[in-house]
Amino acid sequence: MITSESKPEEAQCHYCGYSATYDMWMIVNTAERPDLLRQVQNGTIRKFACRRCGKEFWMMMPLVVYNPGGFPHAVVLTLDRDRNMFPTLASLLRDWAGEDWPPGGTVLWMPHSIMPVAFKRDIRADMATYTVRPGDDAPQAQVYFDFLEQARQAERAGS
Ligand SMILES: [Zn+2]
Repeated sequence: MITSESKPEEAQCHYCGYSATYDMWMIVNTAERPDLLRQVQNGTIRKFACRRCGKEFWMMMPLVVYNPGGFPHAVVLTLDRDRNMFPTLASLLRDWAGEDWPPGGTVLWMPHSIMPVAFKRDIRADMATYTVRPGDDAPQAQVYFDFLEQARQAERAGS
C-alpha cells in the first residue's frame, strides 16, 4: 500500500534568498488524497510562499503521483535534467507497492514542465488522438506529445 507522504525540505526563495523548511509532498496517492491531486493539476504542489518577502516561488523536487486503478498507474515527475533518476524511483515504487502493483501496471516519467497540463487531460484518450498543431503553445505541446509516445511504448511493452 502506497500512502501519500511529505517530508520537511529546505527551500530557498528565488527572490530574496531566504531559506526555510517547508513540508514537501514526495508521494501523492490520488485515490486517498483528491485534494493533493487538485494541487498537482493546478501546479501549486511545488509552489511555496516565502516567509520573509511573501513572494511565491517553485521548488522542483521529484514527485511520485500514484494513481491506483487509473492509467498510467503511476507517474514520476522530475526536471528534465534529472530524468536519470527515473529508473531508480520507478523500481522503488514497485517495491513499495508490493502486491498492490497490478500486472501490467505502468509507471511513466514526466518532466515537471507539463505537470499542470497533463494531469488535467485524459491521457488515455490523448494517446490515440493528440497531435501538435502549428500555433500550439509549441514547447509544452511537444513535450506532452513526447510523453504520450512514451506512454504508447510502455503500453505496447506491457510494462
Ligand atoms: Zn523571499
